[in-house]
Amino acid sequence: MRIHHLSCGTHCPLGGPFFDGSSKGLFANIGTHCLLLETDQGLVLVDTGYGLEDVQGRHARLSRLWPAVLNVQLREHETALRQVEALGFSARDVRHIVLTHLNFDHAGGLEDFPEARIHVMEAEHDAAESKRRGFIGNQRYRPLQWDGVRDWRTYAAGGERWFGFEAVRGLDGLPPEILMVPLRGHTAGHAGVAVRGEDGWLLNAGDAYLYHGQMNPARHHCTIGLSIYQGIMDTDRPARRANQERLRELKRNHGAEITIFCSHDTLEFAALQDTSRTTPPRALACAGR
Ligand SMILES: [Zn+2]
Repeated sequence: MRIHHLSCGTHCPLGGPFFDGSSKGLFANIGTHCLLLETDQGLVLVDTGYGLEDVQGRHARLSRLWPAVLNVQLREHETALRQVEALGFSARDVRHIVLTHLNFDHAGGLEDFPEARIHVMEAEHDAAESKRRGFIGNQRYRPLQWDGVRDWRTYAAGGERWFGFEAVRGLDGLPPEILMVPLRGHTAGHAGVAVRGEDGWLLNAGDAYLYHGQMNPARHHCTIGLSIYQGIMDTDRPARRANQERLRELKRNHGAEITIFCSHDTLEFAALQDTSRTTPPRALACAGR
Protein backbone atom coordinates (compact mmCIF):
# COMPACT_ATOMS: atom_id res chain seq x y z
CA MET A 1 0.00 0.00 0.00
CA ARG A 2 1.42 3.33 -0.98
CA ILE A 3 0.78 6.09 1.55
CA HIS A 4 0.75 9.83 0.88
CA HIS A 5 0.62 12.47 3.58
CA LEU A 6 -1.38 15.54 2.56
CA SER A 7 -2.21 18.74 4.39
CA CYS A 8 -5.68 19.76 3.24
CA GLY A 9 -6.16 23.04 5.03
CA THR A 10 -4.02 25.67 6.72
CA HIS A 11 -4.85 27.71 9.81
CA CYS A 12 -2.86 30.79 10.77
CA PRO A 13 -4.22 31.93 14.13
CA LEU A 14 -2.84 35.06 15.72
CA GLY A 15 -0.50 33.97 18.48
CA GLY A 16 2.35 32.30 16.58
CA PRO A 17 4.28 30.00 18.92
CA PHE A 18 1.53 30.23 21.54
CA PHE A 19 -0.44 28.03 19.14
CA ASP A 20 2.00 25.84 17.24
CA GLY A 21 5.04 26.05 19.52
CA SER A 22 7.49 26.82 16.72
CA SER A 23 6.49 29.84 14.61
CA LYS A 24 8.70 32.88 14.83
CA GLY A 25 6.14 35.47 13.80
CA LEU A 26 2.73 36.66 14.89
CA PHE A 27 0.83 33.89 13.14
CA ALA A 28 0.95 30.16 13.77
CA ASN A 29 1.02 27.63 10.94
CA ILE A 30 -1.31 24.70 11.56
CA GLY A 31 -2.13 22.22 8.81
CA THR A 32 -4.71 19.46 8.49
CA HIS A 33 -2.97 16.11 8.16
CA CYS A 34 -4.83 13.67 5.89
CA LEU A 35 -3.75 10.40 4.30
CA LEU A 36 -4.21 9.20 0.74
CA LEU A 37 -3.79 5.42 0.41
CA GLU A 38 -3.32 3.55 -2.84
CA THR A 39 -4.95 0.15 -2.26
CA ASP A 40 -6.25 -2.73 -4.37
CA GLN A 41 -9.72 -1.38 -3.58
CA GLY A 42 -8.91 2.00 -5.13
CA LEU A 43 -7.86 5.21 -3.45
CA VAL A 44 -8.76 5.69 0.20
CA LEU A 45 -8.69 9.03 1.97
CA VAL A 46 -8.38 9.37 5.73
CA ASP A 47 -10.09 12.71 6.47
CA THR A 48 -10.61 15.36 3.82
CA GLY A 49 -9.81 18.79 5.28
CA TYR A 50 -11.59 21.65 3.53
CA GLY A 51 -13.35 21.08 0.24
CA LEU A 52 -13.77 22.94 -3.00
CA GLU A 53 -17.08 24.48 -1.98
CA ASP A 54 -15.57 25.71 1.28
CA VAL A 55 -12.82 27.42 -0.72
CA GLN A 56 -15.27 28.90 -3.19
CA GLY A 57 -17.35 30.21 -0.31
CA ARG A 58 -20.65 29.00 -1.66
CA HIS A 59 -23.67 28.26 0.53
CA ALA A 60 -22.05 29.52 3.76
CA ARG A 61 -20.88 26.02 4.56
CA LEU A 62 -18.53 27.16 7.32
CA SER A 63 -19.53 29.01 10.46
CA ARG A 64 -18.17 32.51 11.05
CA LEU A 65 -16.63 31.80 14.44
CA TRP A 66 -13.87 29.21 14.02
CA PRO A 67 -12.66 30.19 10.57
CA ALA A 68 -12.15 33.71 11.95
CA VAL A 69 -10.49 32.65 15.23
CA LEU A 70 -8.30 30.08 13.50
CA ASN A 71 -7.66 32.40 10.54
CA VAL A 72 -8.37 29.61 8.05
CA GLN A 73 -6.56 30.00 4.72
CA LEU A 74 -8.83 28.48 2.11
CA ARG A 75 -6.62 27.56 -0.84
CA GLU A 76 -7.89 25.52 -3.73
CA HIS A 77 -4.58 23.76 -4.36
CA GLU A 78 -4.64 22.43 -0.79
CA THR A 79 -7.98 20.68 -1.17
CA ALA A 80 -7.75 16.88 -1.23
CA LEU A 81 -9.36 16.92 -4.68
CA ARG A 82 -6.70 19.10 -6.27
CA GLN A 83 -3.90 17.14 -4.57
CA VAL A 84 -5.38 13.83 -5.76
CA GLU A 85 -5.49 15.29 -9.28
CA ALA A 86 -1.91 16.56 -8.97
CA LEU A 87 -0.85 12.97 -8.29
CA GLY A 88 -2.41 11.92 -11.58
CA PHE A 89 -5.72 10.53 -10.31
CA SER A 90 -9.28 11.72 -10.63
CA ALA A 91 -12.01 12.31 -8.06
CA ARG A 92 -13.71 9.07 -9.11
CA ASP A 93 -10.63 7.04 -8.21
CA VAL A 94 -11.31 7.77 -4.52
CA ARG A 95 -13.58 4.88 -3.49
CA HIS A 96 -13.50 5.17 0.28
CA ILE A 97 -13.11 7.91 2.86
CA VAL A 98 -12.49 7.00 6.50
CA LEU A 99 -13.17 9.83 8.92
CA THR A 100 -11.75 10.51 12.35
CA HIS A 101 -14.78 12.74 12.95
CA LEU A 102 -17.14 15.07 11.16
CA ASN A 103 -15.88 18.49 12.25
CA PHE A 104 -15.75 21.26 9.65
CA ASP A 105 -11.98 20.99 9.14
CA HIS A 106 -12.09 17.24 8.46
CA ALA A 107 -15.30 16.71 6.49
CA GLY A 108 -15.19 19.59 4.00
CA GLY A 109 -13.96 17.50 1.08
CA LEU A 110 -16.53 14.68 1.28
CA GLU A 111 -18.68 15.92 -1.58
CA ASP A 112 -15.69 16.35 -3.88
CA PHE A 113 -15.54 12.54 -4.26
CA PRO A 114 -18.90 11.34 -5.59
CA GLU A 115 -17.90 7.65 -5.84
CA ALA A 116 -16.61 7.38 -2.30
CA ARG A 117 -18.17 5.35 0.49
CA ILE A 118 -17.89 7.24 3.78
CA HIS A 119 -16.90 5.32 6.92
CA VAL A 120 -17.47 6.92 10.32
CA MET A 121 -18.38 5.86 13.84
CA GLU A 122 -22.12 5.63 14.40
CA ALA A 123 -21.96 7.85 17.49
CA GLU A 124 -20.22 10.53 15.44
CA HIS A 125 -22.75 10.40 12.66
CA ASP A 126 -25.60 10.59 15.18
CA ALA A 127 -24.04 13.57 16.98
CA ALA A 128 -23.42 15.40 13.72
CA GLU A 129 -26.95 14.79 12.46
CA SER A 130 -28.61 15.66 15.77
CA LYS A 131 -31.04 18.56 15.66
CA ARG A 132 -30.08 19.52 19.23
CA ARG A 133 -26.37 20.07 18.96
CA GLY A 134 -26.10 23.27 21.00
CA PHE A 135 -23.89 26.26 20.20
CA ILE A 136 -20.52 24.50 19.94
CA GLY A 137 -22.12 21.61 18.09
CA ASN A 138 -23.56 23.97 15.51
CA GLN A 139 -20.16 25.59 15.03
CA ARG A 140 -18.28 22.33 14.65
CA TYR A 141 -20.76 20.30 12.58
CA ARG A 142 -21.73 21.82 9.25
CA PRO A 143 -24.30 19.56 7.54
CA LEU A 144 -24.01 21.42 4.23
CA GLN A 145 -20.57 19.81 3.93
CA TRP A 146 -22.09 16.33 3.67
CA ASP A 147 -25.78 16.60 2.79
CA GLY A 148 -24.98 15.27 -0.68
CA VAL A 149 -23.37 12.07 0.66
CA ARG A 150 -25.48 8.97 0.01
CA ASP A 151 -23.17 6.06 0.81
CA TRP A 152 -22.53 6.11 4.57
CA ARG A 153 -21.20 3.18 6.55
CA THR A 154 -21.43 3.63 10.32
CA TYR A 155 -19.91 1.42 13.00
CA ALA A 156 -20.48 0.74 16.68
CA ALA A 157 -17.54 0.74 19.10
CA GLY A 158 -16.20 -2.59 20.30
CA GLY A 159 -14.83 -5.65 18.66
CA GLU A 160 -11.39 -6.90 17.91
CA ARG A 161 -8.46 -5.62 19.97
CA TRP A 162 -5.59 -3.65 18.47
CA PHE A 163 -2.60 -3.11 20.79
CA GLY A 164 -5.03 -3.11 23.73
CA PHE A 165 -7.52 -0.72 22.14
CA GLU A 166 -10.98 -1.61 20.95
CA ALA A 167 -10.91 -1.52 17.18
CA VAL A 168 -13.34 -1.68 14.31
CA ARG A 169 -11.81 -3.91 11.70
CA GLY A 170 -13.52 -5.15 8.56
CA LEU A 171 -14.67 -1.75 7.32
CA ASP A 172 -17.10 -2.47 4.51
CA GLY A 173 -15.10 -2.88 1.30
CA LEU A 174 -11.71 -2.18 2.88
CA PRO A 175 -8.79 -4.48 3.69
CA PRO A 176 -8.01 -5.38 7.34
CA GLU A 177 -4.89 -3.19 7.17
CA ILE A 178 -7.20 -0.17 7.58
CA LEU A 179 -9.17 0.01 10.81
CA MET A 180 -10.80 2.46 13.17
CA VAL A 181 -9.74 2.90 16.80
CA PRO A 182 -12.42 4.67 18.87
CA LEU A 183 -10.90 7.62 20.75
CA ARG A 184 -13.89 9.56 22.00
CA GLY A 185 -13.66 12.78 23.92
CA HIS A 186 -13.00 15.56 21.39
CA THR A 187 -16.32 14.50 19.86
CA ALA A 188 -18.86 11.84 20.79
CA GLY A 189 -17.75 9.39 18.12
CA HIS A 190 -14.18 10.44 17.47
CA ALA A 191 -11.86 7.67 16.26
CA GLY A 192 -8.28 7.23 15.20
CA VAL A 193 -7.58 5.47 11.92
CA ALA A 194 -4.82 2.86 11.87
CA VAL A 195 -3.13 1.85 8.63
CA ARG A 196 -0.55 -0.88 8.18
CA GLY A 197 2.06 0.13 5.63
CA GLU A 198 5.35 -1.40 4.55
CA ASP A 199 7.18 0.28 7.42
CA GLY A 200 4.75 -0.64 10.18
CA TRP A 201 1.60 0.88 11.56
CA LEU A 202 0.50 4.49 11.26
CA LEU A 203 -2.16 5.80 13.63
CA ASN A 204 -3.87 8.98 12.56
CA ALA A 205 -5.20 10.09 15.94
CA GLY A 206 -7.23 12.94 14.44
CA ASP A 207 -7.96 15.54 17.13
CA ALA A 208 -7.56 13.12 20.04
CA TYR A 209 -4.63 15.40 20.77
CA LEU A 210 -3.46 18.56 19.00
CA TYR A 211 0.24 19.06 19.76
CA HIS A 212 3.16 16.65 19.70
CA GLY A 213 4.15 17.62 23.25
CA GLN A 214 0.98 15.97 24.48
CA MET A 215 2.48 12.62 23.50
CA ASN A 216 5.68 13.22 25.46
CA PRO A 217 5.69 10.27 27.88
CA ALA A 218 8.02 12.01 30.34
CA ARG A 219 6.29 15.38 30.60
CA HIS A 220 3.26 15.93 28.45
CA HIS A 221 2.42 19.51 27.63
CA CYS A 222 0.47 21.63 25.15
CA THR A 223 0.70 25.20 23.90
CA ILE A 224 -1.62 27.74 25.51
CA GLY A 225 -3.58 28.42 22.32
CA LEU A 226 -4.24 24.79 21.46
CA SER A 227 -4.95 23.98 25.08
CA ILE A 228 -7.72 26.59 25.18
CA TYR A 229 -9.12 25.41 21.83
CA GLN A 230 -9.01 21.81 23.00
CA GLY A 231 -10.87 22.67 26.19
CA ILE A 232 -13.61 24.58 24.37
CA MET A 233 -14.07 21.72 21.90
CA ASP A 234 -14.10 18.89 24.45
CA THR A 235 -17.30 16.87 24.30
CA ASP A 236 -16.21 14.50 27.08
CA ARG A 237 -13.13 15.82 28.89
CA PRO A 238 -12.43 12.81 31.13
CA ALA A 239 -12.64 10.53 28.09
CA ARG A 240 -10.35 12.79 26.07
CA ARG A 241 -7.79 12.87 28.88
CA ALA A 242 -8.00 9.12 29.43
CA ASN A 243 -7.52 8.45 25.73
CA GLN A 244 -4.50 10.77 25.59
CA GLU A 245 -2.99 8.81 28.46
CA ARG A 246 -3.67 5.55 26.60
CA LEU A 247 -2.02 6.98 23.49
CA ARG A 248 1.06 7.96 25.51
CA GLU A 249 1.18 4.43 26.85
CA LEU A 250 0.84 3.07 23.34
CA LYS A 251 3.75 5.23 22.22
CA ARG A 252 5.82 4.21 25.27
CA ASN A 253 5.25 0.49 24.73
CA HIS A 254 4.97 0.21 20.96
CA GLY A 255 6.62 3.33 19.60
CA ALA A 256 8.93 1.23 17.43
CA GLU A 257 5.98 -0.46 15.71
CA ILE A 258 3.47 2.38 15.49
CA THR A 259 3.92 5.96 14.32
CA ILE A 260 1.27 8.09 15.99
CA PHE A 261 0.36 11.51 14.66
CA CYS A 262 -2.53 13.93 15.00
CA SER A 263 -4.29 16.15 12.49
CA HIS A 264 -2.86 19.54 13.38
CA ASP A 265 0.75 19.27 14.51
CA THR A 266 3.20 21.09 12.26
CA LEU A 267 6.31 19.12 13.23
CA GLU A 268 4.65 15.72 12.97
CA PHE A 269 3.41 16.55 9.48
CA ALA A 270 6.79 17.83 8.36
CA ALA A 271 8.51 14.66 9.60
CA LEU A 272 6.11 12.32 7.87
CA GLN A 273 5.74 14.34 4.70
CA ASP A 274 9.45 13.97 4.13
CA THR A 275 9.20 10.18 4.32
CA SER A 276 6.31 9.88 1.87
CA ARG A 277 7.51 9.16 -1.62
CA THR A 278 5.61 11.97 -3.24
CA THR A 279 5.94 15.67 -3.62
CA PRO A 280 2.50 17.07 -2.88
CA PRO A 281 2.38 20.83 -2.42
CA ARG A 282 3.71 21.74 0.97
CA ALA A 283 1.35 23.50 3.34
CA LEU A 284 2.20 27.12 2.73
CA ALA A 285 3.57 29.07 5.62
CA CYS A 286 1.36 31.73 7.09
CA ALA A 287 2.07 35.37 6.37
CA GLY A 288 4.44 36.98 8.81
CA ARG A 289 5.95 33.70 9.88
ZN1 LIG B 1 -9.44 19.31 13.58
